[in-house]
Amino acid sequence: MDQIAHQTIQNCQKHSNNQISFLRVNQISDQNEAQIFYCIDCVDDDHDFKGIDYIQIQKIIQQPQSQILQKWPPVNDNTILQKLLQQYQNSDTSNSVVQRITKYFTELKYEINIKIENVQKKILKQALEISFEKEQILQQYKQISQIDKLQQIFQEGKQHSFDVLNNQCKAFLTQIQSQKEEISLQLQNLLDQCCKVKQQADFDTPNKIRIEISSLLENIYFFPQLNQNNINLNYSNLETIMQLVSNKSNFCTCEFLDSLRKNLEKLNPFIEQMEFVNIFQQGREPIKFQEISETKFEEINEFMNHLINLENSQQYSQQIQQSERIQNICKILENKTNFINQNTISFLKGIFSKCYPLMKSIDQIQICDQQEEFNCFQELSDDSLQHLIKLINLKKQFEIRNNFDESETNAIRHQAKRFLYDFKQNELDQILKTFPVFDLIPKENKTNILRNIELVKSDFVDGVQRIQIVKNSDESIEAWINQQQYSGKYKNYAPNCIWDSSLEKEKKYVFRIQFNVNNENSTNFILGLMQKSDFNQNYGYKNKLSCCLKYEQRQIKYKGGYGIDKLTKGDSFRLNMEDMIEMRVWLEGQILEIVDFPNYQYKLELKDELKNNLIDLNDLNLYFYLYYENIKYILKEAFIVNQFIN
Ligand SMILES: [Zn+2]
Repeated sequence: MDQIAHQTIQNCQKHSNNQISFLRVNQISDQNEAQIFYCIDCVDDDHDFKGIDYIQIQKIIQQPQSQILQKWPPVNDNTILQKLLQQYQNSDTSNSVVQRITKYFTELKYEINIKIENVQKKILKQALEISFEKEQILQQYKQISQIDKLQQIFQEGKQHSFDVLNNQCKAFLTQIQSQKEEISLQLQNLLDQCCKVKQQADFDTPNKIRIEISSLLENIYFFPQLNQNNINLNYSNLETIMQLVSNKSNFCTCEFLDSLRKNLEKLNPFIEQMEFVNIFQQGREPIKFQEISETKFEEINEFMNHLINLENSQQYSQQIQQSERIQNICKILENKTNFINQNTISFLKGIFSKCYPLMKSIDQIQICDQQEEFNCFQELSDDSLQHLIKLINLKKQFEIRNNFDESETNAIRHQAKRFLYDFKQNELDQILKTFPVFDLIPKENKTNILRNIELVKSDFVDGVQRIQIVKNSDESIEAWINQQQYSGKYKNYAPNCIWDSSLEKEKKYVFRIQFNVNNENSTNFILGLMQKSDFNQNYGYKNKLSCCLKYEQRQIKYKGGYGIDKLTKGDSFRLNMEDMIEMRVWLEGQILEIVDFPNYQYKLELKDELKNNLIDLNDLNLYFYLYYENIKYILKEAFIVNQFIN
């Protein structure tokens, strides 16, 4: 080869004795005369000769099949070729990747074999421990059945008489018979145990493990980039598991999650073989706690714990219901002016108790601006509240009709003006308008007419000069005669005083009169009805519509003879000085009566034959006959009533 090569190499153009030895591979000039071949003498001649730019032609011819050439091809950085050469030379050593891989698989096989053998031994040992060989089954059968003994009896029986054999056999059978229960049980146990081993052996799991090991082995790799098609580098199942585990509500530590991920990554080939279907129930997915703020998340966490405690602890539940927070809210609900019914309050209380932790901020809030006013309504009695509502409704009615003049309260305000002058009128008007209290009060079925009654003196027998009439502050009216200053001729004649009006025929009147006597002498009172038109001409009793009473032993008694003389109640009419007589008048109904008030023990009526006068005579009215000095008629009460009582 050397020879042939040598012969094919040309000689130097400069030194024709020399074959060319070097080829210039770097720094080659474009010029034609530039020299690329060098012989040994050329090298000698060239003072700038740099070995790095030249390759030995000999090497080109001889080494390409077996060597990496250090100077070919021309490169920017010669160290690349040097390193490549080094790698090429080292690849033969025992440390090569191929050898290491081979070693890995040798060791793997060895280790797996050892493992398999150990496990196999262990499991076989277990199987032997719990399973029954044929021989064992037979042994146990023999032991339980005592068949050996039966056999022995027969073998020994040859030496004995038939009777002996018969007896021994019978005795044994009796004994076995007595153990029948126990023997059956023992045989059943033996049978169960035989079956159990077969049933217990689980071949499923080992089969699965075999498949898994096998696929795990397939996944061994050293060069990911080369085997991309075969190796499953998918981490999607692993990510799914990580996502589930790391849900914010699990509060896993970073340490745990990191460690879990690392461990799962090791098992990834297994994990990725799993088929994850139907991870979540239909229409469901994990609650997205990571999407809410940290504060809200904490709130929800607290809320959950609260719900669990509510559910599990009666004591906790009570504690919450009695907490200040819930109590404060309930106070609002229960305020009387809210009119919330008990069912709703209980229902809302339940909701508030549930939301207890979410309402924390209410503790910092001042709920009522006017706490005292709020309490004030709360303390109101049911009756007062009902009255208040009625008042407000009345006020509303008057406002709607824009007519407070219709109000009873307004009427009373007008009538009572002289008692109300101490009050500021504007505010009185305002408050009575807002609270028309008198419209709330139901009316008695009687009307007080005392304040409308004016008694007048008659001119008859100089009454005007002698009669005294005083109206008291309580509206009662006193009438008496005082003739100390009188010097006229009628001193012994009795004048009348009368109500200066006419009784209406259809109305029912009640007059209550008290008598006052200043001396102990007996004296008479006459009172009743007389015609107003006759008032200045005649004695009042002329029409016989009067009653005559006498004062005697500190009592007022019936004397009679003036019309009202029919006693229809009690034995004899009488009353004490502190009591009153009640005169009842109903012209249209032909009623004129005198009763004692307040006891109503007696009643004097107008005689029947005089009753027509009540209808026939016009302008009848109440009068008092005033004769005796030192006595007083006191008209204390006067009403128009719907009906007479008692
Ligand atoms: Zn040369």
